[in-house]
Amino acid sequence: MNALDETHNPALRSWVASANDPASEFPIQNLPFGRFRRAGTDEPWRIGVAIGDQVLDLRQASEHGAMPALPQPLAQGDLNAFMAQGSAARIALRRALSQALREGSAAQSALQPCLVPQAQAEMTLPCRVGDYTDFYTGIHHATAVGKLFRPEQPLLPNYKYVPIGYHGRSSSLRVSGHAFARPLGQFKTDAAEPQFGPCRRLDYELELGAFIGAGNEFGAPIPMARAEDHLFGMVLLNDWSARDVQAWEYQPLGPFLAKNFATTLSPWVVTMEALAPFRCAFVRPDGDPPPLHYLDSADNREQGSLDITLEVWLQTAAMRDRGEPALRLMQSNFRDAYWTLAQLVAHHSSNGCNLQAGDLLGSGTQSGPLEGQGGSLLELTQGGKQAITLPNGETRTFLHDGDTVILRGHCERAGRRRIGFGDCAASVQAAREPVVNPVAPSRS
Ligand code: CA
Repeated sequence: MNALDETHNPALRSWVASANDPASEFPIQNLPFGRFRRAGTDEPWRIGVAIGDQVLDLRQASEHGAMPALPQPLAQGDLNAFMAQGSAARIALRRALSQALREGSAAQSALQPCLVPQAQAEMTLPCRVGDYTDFYTGIHHATAVGKLFRPEQPLLPNYKYVPIGYHGRSSSLRVSGHAFARPLGQFKTDAAEPQFGPCRRLDYELELGAFIGAGNEFGAPIPMARAEDHLFGMVLLNDWSARDVQAWEYQPLGPFLAKNFATTLSPWVVTMEALAPFRCAFVRPDGDPPPLHYLDSADNREQGSLDITLEVWLQTAAMRDRGEPALRLMQSNFRDAYWTLAQLVAHHSSNGCNLQAGDLLGSGTQSGPLEGQGGSLLELTQGGKQAITLPNGETRTFLHDGDTVILRGHCERAGRRRIGFGDCAASVQAAREPVVNPVAPSRS
């Protein structure tokens, strides 16, 4: 599983000077993929690799003959087709990129003109996402939210046996940097009748997203032993949630319109290879049931989890107007998840469901075990009962119009180069006017 090689050497430096800045999230040990074009142009979307504060334009590198071994789909801007080629092609390209971008590389003069400053790049979703599934692996989130609704039984009996998930919607996925209108929806208040209007309890959810690389055939489950081979890489994912709509609509079939109005992704897909130095053991607390056989493997126990620090930052409209920076609301770590990515892949395909290149698996909200580590406002405010007071005196129970929420993530370990994901940011705008039927329905 994701063996370490020379590309992980923390001493490697790039001829792209900004990549050597210890604060850079995109050193030569990271090399994440994204899809972009030069801002202000209508040139075709192309695949790029983030390096320091630059993007290496793979289409241009191919056209200039600067990357001879570049897989054809990448030159054509098709990340899905490259994802489908599986981990061997990805590992080979990582080695080639690492050699081409390191200090002293003979490729420097040919590749230099293929760099675009990230500040001048317009990003889009990294690939076509056929299907999006959202899981619920954050046990501290599941427990905290369960407590609000069922103090006597916060965690339902299935949680420790089955990775809970539901099929989400991919059409409303957006890349970081967008804004969306507060959703309209149906919710129940103390009034006798439910109402329809702007959501009053708009929230975020701090998640990671995992992209599928090579898929599986319809009817052919992916065993645990091969589950990691089907993963391509990871992004940050904000699963925006309309809590009032959710509370009213979710029974008996689960999440629907409260979840599908917008989902924001960070633009750079950090590959499983880049994450390899940050693997850690998957352990269950004493007394918890071991995973069923089809969700267990020695590899998974030894190094199935990932040590990824996650953060939520908030900047209100008032803060923006006064030039105040965003404020960090919390921090947690993906190693606290109750299920690993391999288990999600094995479980999802265990009934023969076919996963395809570019499919997206959401991790579920990643809250930590301690107070103040809630990965949503629902948790940080005890279901909206205890407002958060910001340093400038503003308060929040749920999000206001004009709020910008930024997810951040990074991996850090002694003796390893720190890598990051880049921001996953989006802003809330005022709701649209509800559409009112112009005439009463005919009774003829
Ligand atoms: Ca979610």
